[in-house]
Amino acid sequence: MKKVYLDNAATTPIRQKVIDEMVKVMQSDYGNPSSTHSIGRSAKAVMETSRKTIAKYLHCNAQEIIFTSSATEATNWILRSAVKDFGVKRIITSKVEHHATLYTTQALQAEFGVQLDYINVSEEGILDYKQLEDLLTEETKTIVSLMHVNNETGDISDIAKIGAVCHQYKALFHCDTVQSVGKTELDLQQLPIDFLVASAHKFHGPKGIGFAFVRKNLVLQPLLFGGEQEKGWRAGTEPVHQIAGMAKALELAVENLEEERRYITELKTYCWQKLQQTFPEIEVNGTSTFYNILNVLLPFSPEKTSMILFNLDMKGIAVSRGSACQSGSVKPSHVLAEMLSEEALKKPSLRISFSHYNTKEEIDYFIEGVKEI
Ligand code: PLP
Repeated sequence: MKKVYLDNAATTPIRQKVIDEMVKVMQSDYGNPSSTHSIGRSAKAVMETSRKTIAKYLHCNAQEIIFTSSATEATNWILRSAVKDFGVKRIITSKVEHHATLYTTQALQAEFGVQLDYINVSEEGILDYKQLEDLLTEETKTIVSLMHVNNETGDISDIAKIGAVCHQYKALFHCDTVQSVGKTELDLQQLPIDFLVASAHKFHGPKGIGFAFVRKNLVLQPLLFGGEQEKGWRAGTEPVHQIAGMAKALELAVENLEEERRYITELKTYCWQKLQQTFPEIEVNGTSTFYNILNVLLPFSPEKTSMILFNLDMKGIAVSRGSACQSGSVKPSHVLAEMLSEEALKKPSLRISFSHYNTKEEIDYFIEGVKEI
């Protein structure tokens, strides 16, 4: 069966060169990076070169990059340590964050009684920056946790502005850049971000590996206790092949960024124009400003909502939900629930997310598939 993968915000296919790099490392650099013999040192060298590669693309120091198993782990670690060890008494976030942030902050509220404040989000998915500033005038030790690119709608937040206002009021800023690392330029010399998290599988790298950027002079406490790996901040033998794969994936993403961004932007425009021609009443959810994500509200009856993903899947088309159907009941996406009316929420929404591997033929096939529903 034909397969059309339009779910690149969920995860991305690994580039062949990344696979080759990982295989090479698995074959020849199998040592434990903590071992002092030459085989261990060789694995350590691979790991430290990878760290430098990542740091180079983000314009930070290699020492500021800490490897973790995922962005979820990095976010849990940073927010927990901020509350437990930095004396943070309040977290400011939004209801359109990924569950990695939403549920972590809720758990910290339940466990430590931290104050949790949410920034309002407009129908277009724009954060209320004025409200953020107003909240920050209150003198409470605060960490702000807001994402760069929303994984469901592709809405972009002005992280330079958020960082600046955080620092003006002496708040810490944690930024989930999972959807933007490797897809846009990020310069940590310029951006006033204290903590950033990323995940390799979103930029054509392997799953199960990510990293945190922790700005110099900020000293966190570990989430996991054990060995001295990663400055003692993240115990556990490092997966050298995955780390090397992640660095290779980022290197290739950055090298090809301009060309792939141009290609994907064109593909997204093509898809949107064809969707509009086919379904004149279709609407965009949020602003979908980021170039590889398009979230649309289909002008279909609510009865079709539960069947749509299944029907597309039967045709080999992978896209993502705007509304989830679980055990026969339709549970709306928490992100769209913040932005859409009750009525709109009942209708089917789709998140279509592109990569440079997609083609116009695939878009045509996808639109034919939607037409047949
Ligand atoms: N944050 C965002 C915006 C995401 O899209 C994802 C993945 O879906 C995550 C965090 C979690 O990343 P990971 O899969 O590395 O835990």
